[in-house]
Amino acid sequence: MEIFHPAEILSRDEIAAVQTRRLARVVKRAARSPFYKAKLDEMGVDPESITSLDDLTRLPLTTKDDLRASYPFGMLADEHRELVRLHASSGTTGAPTVVYHTEKDLRTWADLMARCMHMAGMRKEDVFQNIAGYGLFTGGLGIHYGAERLGCLTIPAGAGNTARQIKLLRDFNVSAVHIIPSYALYLAGVVAEQGLDPRDLPPRIALIGAEPHSEEARRRIEEMLGLKAYNSYGLSEMNGPGVAFECEHQNGMHLWEDSYIAEILDPQTQEPVAEGEVGELVMTTLTREAMPLLRYRTRDLTRFLPGECACGRLHRRIDRITGRADDMLIIKGVNIYPMQIEKILLAVPEVAQNYQIVLEREGYIDQIKVRVEIKEEFFIEDMRVLGGIQKRIAGLLRNELLVTPRVELVEAKSLPTSEGKASRVVDLRETKD
Ligand code: ADP
Ligand code: ZN
Repeated sequence: MEIFHPAEILSRDEIAAVQTRRLARVVKRAARSPFYKAKLDEMGVDPESITSLDDLTRLPLTTKDDLRASYPFGMLADEHRELVRLHASSGTTGAPTVVYHTEKDLRTWADLMARCMHMAGMRKEDVFQNIAGYGLFTGGLGIHYGAERLGCLTIPAGAGNTARQIKLLRDFNVSAVHIIPSYALYLAGVVAEQGLDPRDLPPRIALIGAEPHSEEARRRIEEMLGLKAYNSYGLSEMNGPGVAFECEHQNGMHLWEDSYIAEILDPQTQEPVAEGEVGELVMTTLTREAMPLLRYRTRDLTRFLPGECACGRLHRRIDRITGRADDMLIIKGVNIYPMQIEKILLAVPEVAQNYQIVLEREGYIDQIKVRVEIKEEFFIEDMRVLGGIQKRIAGLLRNELLVTPRVELVEAKSLPTSEGKASRVVDLRETKD
């Protein structure tokens, strides 16, 4: 196996040893911040007493609300003069949170990112186009510095402007891209609509992440664009991208355990879930200087995958993120995640690249409506054919969700798209009261 960084091939014992040593260090460092100093004092935890991995559970959990409450400086463990950058989360679920980096933090992050890219098959010789918003969003600069660290010719294309993206891909014979999955589907659709085959675009590798997506979405991206797509997971609070990534085997994401301690906890009780069960991913940063976070509750739902990966790396793998705990919809008493809907829709050949979930209220009853784009060649069919497609989709959704959604077929490219993370759910329930 070719590796980028020696930490990739640590044994389980070596990982435990690194984690133990770094945990002790990071807790002392965290205790320099006003937030953790108060928290640890209140819990009666002496940072010096953290000497083994079993001590982890004595540490406080940290929530997004804690970050918001200590905005802007309360979690800072370093002096202002040591800071060189800050990033803020996209604010998908509310007020933003801020994360600071020292110069060393940025180097560590770029190393992690380069390690991920290398693991997915990128090499120095690749020409890399970063199709993601630059600015506070970590998918811009975070990915960018990783690609440069690996040694790739790196194009900071930014988000949007599809025609220019396509031109850059062709002009510079781009071999690898980073792109948000919903935008990858959109871009492929745009090329196809011009009567061209998106498979003729040069890239052979796409790094896709930043938003939940189904295996069906990955498959479509791979088939439409004729490349291999690798799942990339991260969040601003843990630097950004570079936390967990797929290797060549594409069977779950190796989470870099020399840099993060990961736990999967029951979101209600905060107790560890049984081996292999789905729960909330909770992480502790092991290498961060400016703003260490202890047992940060990501709200992201996943599970550890059993067994060892054929690539030989022993960093544990997490499953594709089902969604955020906040994404769960409750319709007629049934819990539904948007990803369950996506995986059904994108497996239907007549469905184009976009869909929208609309929540409505009729009287006191919540209803779910799914608006689905249909490929042009089917949309011009007569009503009977369309009626058949609609019924088939409704049936498939009912079997998966156990409630019957309304299905509305719409023309391809008629639903709103986003240059950044897709927002799939439109909630009209409040306004109807
Ligand atoms: P925000 O929380 O405001 O969107 P971030 O840009 O930090 O801010 O986004 C991090 C979040 O994006 C993660 O917590 C997760 O919910 C989602 N995410 C990132 N990568 C993936 C991925 N590969 N699969 C599913 N969800 C992802
Ligand atoms: Zn692997």
